[in-house]
Amino acid sequence: MDTQASPVLDPAVAAGAPPRFHLLAKPSGSTCNIDCRYCFFLSKESLYPDERHRMSDATLEAYIRQLLESHRFPEVTVAWQGGEPTLMGLDFFRKAVALVDKHRRPGQRVEQTFQTNGVALDDEWCAFLEANNFLVGLSVDGPRELHDTYRVTRGGKGTFDLVMKGLDRLRAHRVEFNILCTVNAANQAHGRRVYQFFRDELGATWIQFIPIVERATAETLDIANLGWSANPRGKRLLYTQTGTLVTNRSVGAKQYGQFLVDVFEEWARRDVGKVYVQLFDVTLEACFGRYKLCIHAPTCGYGPALEYNGDLYACDHFVEPRFRLGNIHETHMLEMVASTAQRKFGDDKRDTLTRQCQQCEVRAFCNGGCPKDRFVLSRDGEPGHNYLCEGLYAFFSHTRAAMAQMGRLYAQGRPPMEIMASIKADDRKRGPYAPCPCGSGRKFRFCHGAAGERAG
Ligand code: SF4
Ligand code: SF4
Repeated sequence: MDTQASPVLDPAVAAGAPPRFHLLAKPSGSTCNIDCRYCFFLSKESLYPDERHRMSDATLEAYIRQLLESHRFPEVTVAWQGGEPTLMGLDFFRKAVALVDKHRRPGQRVEQTFQTNGVALDDEWCAFLEANNFLVGLSVDGPRELHDTYRVTRGGKGTFDLVMKGLDRLRAHRVEFNILCTVNAANQAHGRRVYQFFRDELGATWIQFIPIVERATAETLDIANLGWSANPRGKRLLYTQTGTLVTNRSVGAKQYGQFLVDVFEEWARRDVGKVYVQLFDVTLEACFGRYKLCIHAPTCGYGPALEYNGDLYACDHFVEPRFRLGNIHETHMLEMVASTAQRKFGDDKRDTLTRQCQQCEVRAFCNGGCPKDRFVLSRDGEPGHNYLCEGLYAFFSHTRAAMAQMGRLYAQGRPPMEIMASIKADDRKRGPYAPCPCGSGRKFRFCHGAAGERAG
């Protein structure tokens, strides 16, 4: 393959292609400077053995040029993630900024996002990120003991202090940041505490929760439980979306729902309009038939992943040989995004729903979740049902009335935050010793009522 080539865009392809998509670029492949136990992306290094996983200048330019010329939508996101993108060094991103300026079309607004574990963020990085308006996603799993359970260095030590140092620099340079928090076996019972920590201790105003679901088979489970960088037999296991078992780090289905409800009950009493929780916003938008997140949209396939060498895959969660669409040095990325294979990948999300999902009363919000999590039997024994269903159903049914109320406020041109007053009125009617509406079984006064009273 000629790694210098960068195909030109065929206008006929562009005419029938989606006007925008959200590509995730992995300039350092899946290599990382820490060793989070649940990070199956670490195992993807074995896809390209014996190679230096670093994006070349030629691939960088092909990527930026093709991305910008593919979009017929004024906003374009250049999304960097990994692995750990800081491993590329600052000069790589200086070049990326220059290339965006070079290839940006008139009227195009380009935002660069940067997902990082934060451990390498110093003043030089943060000054650069601020000067170039990068939006930073910082991975934190909660207060120290929860974060440090799985987010560890290669020597097995917790990374909390290193991440907090990075966050300190981000704040000092006023870099815009979001918190990305995985929901896993260690923090699943602490939704409210984790949320309060982000809001009160970290000053976060934008939070995304991502369930950890690591699939395994009977043959791979023991090795998978060791972590994805382990290679006990001298060879790393390559993570693929197969198997009906999950590792002991994975969140439980029911617990995922409880976590989300716990966060929602706190947020809905105090923070509507102040703190943005991605799934809550996505659910509210779904009231209007708008889908902002592939996972809960009817179809998907607009979030391909680009490896360091130009290989394009159907999705970041399907970086495995059978979902490789091609290479941007051979085929224009838009041609691959618009290809029949990729459209089928996205449409299958809707077309393979189990009967239970098709008949589900919260389908309009959930849409069966992400296909990567569909590996258990439905209530009536049909394969391909979502492992997280119990929790998703609990969350969407629990929040449905409040979401509808916020939707009505919004439709009337009133701020959705007005819902907080009506929730407080309901709380007063219910009284402090009634069961807490979060379903914990505790009295309201000793559960979500405690913070509500303090805030009052
Ligand atoms: S497979 Fe899942 S994560 Fe990937 S695009 Fe589809 S819904 Fe999104
Ligand atoms: S809640 Fe469960 S049954 Fe309903 S759409 Fe989601 S995954 Fe399907």
